[in-house]
Amino acid sequence: MTKNKPNHSPSHSRSHSREDVRQIEFILPPTEQHWVGDGFFVHTLMHPHPRLVDRISPFLLLDYAPPRSFTPSRHRRGVGEHPHRGFETVTFAYSGEVEHRDSAGGGGKIESGDVQWMTAGSGLVHEEKFSRDFSDQGGEFEMVQLWVNLPKVKKMMPPRYQALQGRQFPQLTLGKSATGRLIAGKVSLDGQELEGPALTNSPMLVMDLRAQEDGGVQFPVSKSSNTLLLLRKGKLRVGETEVPEKSLAVLSLKAGQVQLHLSKGSEVLVLSGEPLGEPVFAHGPFVMNTRDEIIQAMEDYQAGRMGHLEERD
Ligand code: MN
Repeated sequence: MTKNKPNHSPSHSRSHSREDVRQIEFILPPTEQHWVGDGFFVHTLMHPHPRLVDRISPFLLLDYAPPRSFTPSRHRRGVGEHPHRGFETVTFAYSGEVEHRDSAGGGGKIESGDVQWMTAGSGLVHEEKFSRDFSDQGGEFEMVQLWVNLPKVKKMMPPRYQALQGRQFPQLTLGKSATGRLIAGKVSLDGQELEGPALTNSPMLVMDLRAQEDGGVQFPVSKSSNTLLLLRKGKLRVGETEVPEKSLAVLSLKAGQVQLHLSKGSEVLVLSGEPLGEPVFAHGPFVMNTRDEIIQAMEDYQAGRMGHLEERD
């Protein structure tokens, strides 16, 4: 800052200079909604396309099922038995209930506000269904499913299942206008360092933000991270750029601060993670580093080496 320049940016502002702040690099709009099984009517916001993987790593895919009302039914909607290997599926239940079980013995029910963090690792089969109670009663259902890649050295780790309950998440206060909850990773706000309960296999920050009032929101991210924002509802602006609802904004690299403007009631999922910098070979439900590893995964699945679920009603 020099004395002779006109007073464009007031020195008393707490805002960081533009160079320190992430801008929007590009926006991924929602695809047409499509059914995953018969339970999840989703927009796909990102998937592991070769041109995209380096800018979204360690994240791979994000499906968003916006709020939808389901009538009571004895039939439990969802997705039947299918395999995964080499990454993690993370399910955020914003409303409604999802029940899960897998061939590695993981399983449970997640309710509104809960997050299920499943590590497929070396491989398993699982099913993802509405809970019996939710099917019987019907109601509003809103969900996000995120795929998180595993580093090469962890792709064949034993499967792991984390059922994270809403009340476990540290509550965040971001300035005067927004609150949030911390799901994974560390963040420093107002000199206080907080840490989310999810165990992750590479460094990342995952948090939900909600604007209580119209206003600006600021938080730090790692300078080397890829940082993505999903606007579930409301209005979000970064710099001069408005993000359309149900879209995913991919922020520019390197800066250590994110500044957002949110309208009252807006809800944003923040994903920020260190890129893995490893080759991604994705095929259907398997995400590995090489073609040979994908072929091996298909052989192992077909030979039953990822297990099976026991028959149930
Ligand atoms: Mn699955």
